[in-house]
Amino acid sequence: MHLANPVVLATPFFIALVVAEMVYGRLSGRARYEPRDTAASLLMGFGNVIIAGLFAFIFLDLARLLHPYRLADLGFSLPVFAVCFVLDDFIYYWWHRASHRMRWLWANHVNHHSSQHYNLSTALRQSWGEQFTPGVLFLMPLVAIGFPVPMILFVHGLNLVYQFWIHTEAIDKLPRAFEAVMNTPSHHRVHHATNPAYLDSNYAGVFIVWDRLFGSFVAEREDEPPRYGIVHNLATFNVLKIAFHEWLGLLADLRRAKSLREIVCYVFAPPGWSADGSRETTDSLKAQWDASRAPAE
Ligand SMILES: [Zn+2]
Ligand SMILES: [Zn+2]
Repeated sequence: MHLANPVVLATPFFIALVVAEMVYGRLSGRARYEPRDTAASLLMGFGNVIIAGLFAFIFLDLARLLHPYRLADLGFSLPVFAVCFVLDDFIYYWWHRASHRMRWLWANHVNHHSSQHYNLSTALRQSWGEQFTPGVLFLMPLVAIGFPVPMILFVHGLNLVYQFWIHTEAIDKLPRAFEAVMNTPSHHRVHHATNPAYLDSNYAGVFIVWDRLFGSFVAEREDEPPRYGIVHNLATFNVLKIAFHEWLGLLADLRRAKSLREIVCYVFAPPGWSADGSRETTDSLKAQWDASRAPAE
């Protein structure tokens, strides 16, 4: 069965909504756009689609290798689609969490976080190197269970389409029951924030319940407005620097590494790990912040 790519189908709506939010921002002040930042995000989105198309064979070939060993043939039906959607979202949560906690995956995922703005165009700032990370392995359990590969790709695309509208400051908190179950603009603003109180939280794609279940949920607070970007901001709108700066940093560290242990840690330890301990990790930043808030003895 051939299924369309939901991301491609939704792209005209993405562009129309970015323009609508820009106009709304001008009129209301509730959305902030910087033209060069938006241009960089759009180019990153465009490049992502091209690279994903060129290197789609990596995922497809791996899936083809695994296919003869699948546990079942689940076929196409609505209940199977629904289960596949939920399992894909569960896997997305773990892929996303790993992408913030492992330097190799972060070298790719940092692309999505490098904007210091938070608007619908930030959603389109997508990474260029996913196919060159262990990220391609995360969907393999779905192949092994026996979900059809076109279905897996379709629900994965739907998941990304859902995440578009949550990249906005124009929507406050939504009704409590919705905020309890679904990923929302409020939850995802926290995910994009560099405030120590918010680091490494809200990894959800569609359902925020995974963060609540696995201890990574942090609610947005009125007294803690999010500061967007990454811990060391890039101060550039050059898409080549946006796409490759962390890969180059990782390669430079590997060249300097003096032992196998250092190589393994630079690749697999959390971003900020360094052989001499001179850099900050999100854990050390959070610990400093906690210490600064501790009551004086
Ligand atoms: Zn992220
Ligand atoms: Zn995001």
